[in-house]
Amino acid sequence: MSNALTSPLPDRGSCLCGQTAIEVRETCSPHIVCHCSDCHALSALLISYVACPISAVTITFPCLRYYDTVAASGNILHRQFCGGCGANIAHTSDRLGEKIVVDTARLPRFKEVPIDMEFFVKDKWQGLKPIEGAKQFEMMHE
Ligand SMILES: [Zn+2]
Ligand SMILES: [Zn+2]
Repeated sequence: MSNALTSPLPDRGSCLCGQTAIEVRETCSPHIVCHCSDCHALSALLISYVACPISAVTITFPCLRYYDTVAASGNILHRQFCGGCGANIAHTSDRLGEKIVVDTARLPRFKEVPIDMEFFVKDKWQGLKPIEGAKQFEMMHE
């Protein structure tokens, strides 16, 4: 999905404490919001992410921490967190291959990018309405 974004690449952001920095050098899609119980536990009520080629992403991490989880699909996700403040940064998995899923809340350019899909709407908090224009999925997690 191509969007006419006004913010230039690369997109750069950092975690709450500033020790972990992330740079994304390509436009990646789809932009996904996930409502699964793991996303609730690791971040907040809404977590937004995008899968990008690993070659297009640089994470600068003096103190990154790792934690593996098993997704509903059975896929093992290798999650990366800032060791300074605990912010969720990204994850990889064998199934994703040469891609890395980055949390778009750290990337200011994504403020302009519409949400394309919502995953795990079966677990969505009832106070949240469907995001306009976003395709709804009962489950899904790659
Ligand atoms: Zn941090
Ligand atoms: Zn999720």
